[in-house]
Amino acid sequence: MRRVTIFGATGSIGENTVDLIARRPEAYEVVALTGGRNVARLARQAMALRARLAVTCHPECHADLREALAGTGIETAAGPDALIEAADRPADWVMSGIVGAAGLAPGFRALRHGSTLALANKESLVTAGPLLMAEARAHGATILPVDSEHSAVFQGLVGEDIAAVERIVITASGGAFRDWPLERLADATLAEASTHPNWAMGQRITIDSASMFNKSLELIETREFFGVEPSRIEVVIHPESLVHALVGFRDGALMAHLGPPDMRHAIGYALNWPERADLPVARLDLAAIGQLNFHAPDPRRYPALALARQVMETRGLAGAAFNAAKECALDAFIAGRIGFTDMARVVEAALDSLAGDPGLGIPAENLDTVFAMDHLARVRAGEAVRALTART
Ligand code: NDP
Ligand code: MG
Repeated sequence: MRRVTIFGATGSIGENTVDLIARRPEAYEVVALTGGRNVARLARQAMALRARLAVTCHPECHADLREALAGTGIETAAGPDALIEAADRPADWVMSGIVGAAGLAPGFRALRHGSTLALANKESLVTAGPLLMAEARAHGATILPVDSEHSAVFQGLVGEDIAAVERIVITASGGAFRDWPLERLADATLAEASTHPNWAMGQRITIDSASMFNKSLELIETREFFGVEPSRIEVVIHPESLVHALVGFRDGALMAHLGPPDMRHAIGYALNWPERADLPVARLDLAAIGQLNFHAPDPRRYPALALARQVMETRGLAGAAFNAAKECALDAFIAGRIGFTDMARVVEAALDSLAGDPGLGIPAENLDTVFAMDHLARVRAGEAVRALTART
């Protein structure tokens, strides 16, 4: 029996992970499931998978969780410390599926067991890539990418020498506003930004797909995970979302990874690695698909990409600052305080205000330095939000 823990079980990645685990109950022993406000779903999942522990990150939700699981023998706990305690329980395979910087600490902690960390939480690599990779090495743990593009690259590199890689191309759908006239973007509503042309995902990553902040995080994620120079990483718009990434080698070969837009492929690959197992994903009928399209992203439509390039140049704590400012800008957009195109303005202003900070380019010593920069960047982004709202 493989011991598994799922952080962020109630989310989109979490539900897909639960779906795969539930198909083979005899193979898995579920150590812990964590969620947030969706207590009813968490309780349902915990009972279905006979989990030992269910944790909500919100202390105020604990009473509801306890009540929902009363009499089942499933332990409950709540709060950020309880997430760390869940990570301290030995597991062989851990899904890091919390959204945002909040996913960093539990995943980081889980590496101590030398287990496999299936990393959907790209923010962990963006904010603390070198620390996370070093921690995994120190404990003999394995980190496997779950982001579809990174899983695709990882699969393209099996049996290959990373030194023979000339470039990595990650694809982007272009998001909800790919075909909108540029001048309409400023008025895009929350509902419009929250629909993705191809993937069904959590709201935050869906909006980040429309703004391409998601692809920006993924550029940095690629750099941190595979250790390739930023100049070798490209983004191409591919509206069909069927080719997830391509790896180009020094001999000119370009290896593409194709699959339907279903996260159960990447999650299932990480779950069964290094083997491949049957997965319940649709098979592509290329003749029916007929054609695949690609084009270069327009920098005016997606200013987030240039910001990510700047962050990769600076490195150090710039990724933590970038992600935190982005989260703050996204919160402000979701709350209706700023417009869609203001998000990039806020992040740029926050990064500019931190540019003089001597600590920005210095490698993080530990998670506390990362959290301190995260906090500072949220303060600066908050100021930028206030400056924008004062103007309108
Ligand atoms: P969702 O919003 O659907 O789910 C997020 C999960 O995290 C939920 O379980 C939520 O609980 C929980 N959560 C929210 N805030 C906190 C917090 N502060 N502390 C602890 N737990 C919290 O997100 P997704 O599943 O879409 O994304 C998860 C991660 O995977 C992100 O990093 C995303 O970028 C990445 N990813 C997602 C993909 C997708 O297809 N969805 C594809 C590739 C990467 P609750 O809902 O109960 O409040
Ligand atoms: Mg992705």
